[in-house]
Amino acid sequence: MLGNSSFYRSILLPSNGLEYSQFAQIKKLPVGAAAALEDTFLAGSQTELFASIFSCILKNIPAEELFWADAFYLWTLVFSEAFKINNFTMLQSCDKCGKNNSIKVPFEKISVLFNTNKEKFLKYHISGEGLQKNIFVVYERRKLKHNFISGLETTGAELNNSKHTKEIILAFIKPQIKFIQIGKEKILKADEIVDLLDNLKLKQIKDIFKVLPKSDFGAQENLSFSCTECEKINRFEFNNPLVSAIYNSEFVNEQEYFKNFKTLLETGFYFNKFGLMKFDSFLELPMSEVQTIMQVAKETLERANGSNKGGGLTPEEFFGIAPPVE
Ligand SMILES: [Zn+2]
Repeated sequence: MLGNSSFYRSILLPSNGLEYSQFAQIKKLPVGAAAALEDTFLAGSQTELFASIFSCILKNIPAEELFWADAFYLWTLVFSEAFKINNFTMLQSCDKCGKNNSIKVPFEKISVLFNTNKEKFLKYHISGEGLQKNIFVVYERRKLKHNFISGLETTGAELNNSKHTKEIILAFIKPQIKFIQIGKEKILKADEIVDLLDNLKLKQIKDIFKVLPKSDFGAQENLSFSCTECEKINRFEFNNPLVSAIYNSEFVNEQEYFKNFKTLLETGFYFNKFGLMKFDSFLELPMSEVQTIMQVAKETLERANGSNKGGGLTPEEFFGIAPPVE
């Protein structure tokens, strides 16, 4: 019984059956998968984090095929449930002075928009001087796999630079583009698409760059914040797939909640040592239930020992022994 987190629940996804099942079959976040959150050595992007977590807990959809909007939505659910929290803390830089502001996003401010558009691809009309015909970019909505491809071709420093060059922008938008339509003609070959885009003006490329990451479904918010440095009112950008292609998670809470991960694993080790639970099974425990299970185990042992000691024990105090020395 203990350690069994193989129970899958169905969660309705914002993409609402557009390309894969309407429902994600997903487990609660187990201790073992949560270890990925603490992997500062890997220092991966948020996209990599999503993919590594979902490959452990999501049964019916390949993680890299997830629409970014679905992945972000699922992550807010899984993460908040695992740590029993009702808000996210995120960092966002001010448009004007660049100062990083720490923003608390309460869940009640977030609503979810479910997709009603059955069109697999979206169209963007490229307009502007020098263009004779009707030119459209026909593109997929952003997926985790697009972020992987873009992430390989660019760096954080390049994206952070406000003077985005065509090259960097192209690295981001290319993976999403299916074809370019000029009148009745379709340009399908990747190198021809790149040539064509390369001939556009930088302003036209930047306009495409603004539109393609946007999703017509997913978690929505309408928050703004006043910069603590210059007081400029910024619109809060809650949902930016491009940033997550190359940056670490923006959720500050993730790091806070994992400060004590080592202690948690030590507890698993003691559970194993004293025959309460195998270490493998401990890693399978859902994070949301670990606290409860630790509490019950502690109370049981205290009763057995006739001790009245209060909460907040370290594993050493809990089990009344010192850890073994190697
Ligand atoms: Zn500012």
